[in-house]
Amino acid sequence: SACRSPISSPIRGEIVAAYGRHFLVKTATDIALPCVLRGRKGGAACGDQVEIRLTSPGQGVIETILPRRTLLHRSDSSRDKLIAANVTQLVIVVAAVPSFSEELINRCLVAAENQHIKALIVLNKADLSEPTRAAFATLLLYERLGYSLLQLSAKTDIEPLLPYLRGHLSALVGQSGMGKSTLINALIPAAERATAEISTTLDTGRHTTTHARLYQLDETSGIIDSPGVQQFGLQHISSEELVWGFKEFHRYIGQCKFNNCCHIGEPGCALLHAVGEGKIDPRRLDFYRKLIMSWRPPPGATSILK
Ligand code: GDP
Ligand code: ZN
Repeated sequence: SACRSPISSPIRGEIVAAYGRHFLVKTATDIALPCVLRGRKGGAACGDQVEIRLTSPGQGVIETILPRRTLLHRSDSSRDKLIAANVTQLVIVVAAVPSFSEELINRCLVAAENQHIKALIVLNKADLSEPTRAAFATLLLYERLGYSLLQLSAKTDIEPLLPYLRGHLSALVGQSGMGKSTLINALIPAAERATAEISTTLDTGRHTTTHARLYQLDETSGIIDSPGVQQFGLQHISSEELVWGFKEFHRYIGQCKFNNCCHIGEPGCALLHAVGEGKIDPRRLDFYRKLIMSWRPPPGATSILK
């Protein structure tokens, strides 16, 4: 059999930055090796565990994407549909000023539930105490549902967040203006943030703004930041599956009068009944309805909506 030179044997690594079809891979010997994804593979994402092969010193090609624990998708129809792989926690950053979208929080929670990912809502800008008080009261609903809720000020003290991040690969998401960059800057040393920047300019010279980066916080914890991403795509979730994204609905599913109930106002809907009984917050059923009414079946799929 042919003798294999050691340089061509596969190397294990983790994708720590994604720029379209270009990636930086962290291996045992390199913290940011530029790699490309060849062929018609379904795409790779930040957080992916991969096997690469060196094509020249300092340049590699991704050959294998190892099985993923979880996968988060983009919300638009861009070519690179994946955002983050192997994430175990979603950190949703909101603030009272400017006001946040509760609909967006709900969409993020659906994405988290769909992948069995833990979710944490961080109410930032707690130093603005007056508006924060009211926002916190609104968000208590999510704490009652079993999600973690935390208020802090990224400007003054991020300490309260640290225990929540331990042991997780967390994806940070938030509308612009909520203070996500301020939070990342407080968490990650500037030198480490610069690594990804330097490596892109060494790349093809072509710049894309839709990239994601993974920062290692310690041996067991990491954070994926995807600038510009305010939410995750739900298009890959079928309309039947969407309802499972609302965890307090679970016990009522299958109890509606009609077994094909879409819970959008049909008579005998168990969810509507539960709202009447005070068991389900009406805001949540509203968000579910908004989501299902705006849901478009992927090509080839049929909608359960009549
Ligand atoms: P991003 O768009 O989510 O990345 O938000 P930025 O980090 O750029 O922050 C948006 C604005 O909110 C900036 O003017 C920040 O200085 C401000 N900001 C961020 N964190 C805090 C905070 O904890 N308290 C206050 N008062 N302002 C903050
Ligand atoms: Zn129903």
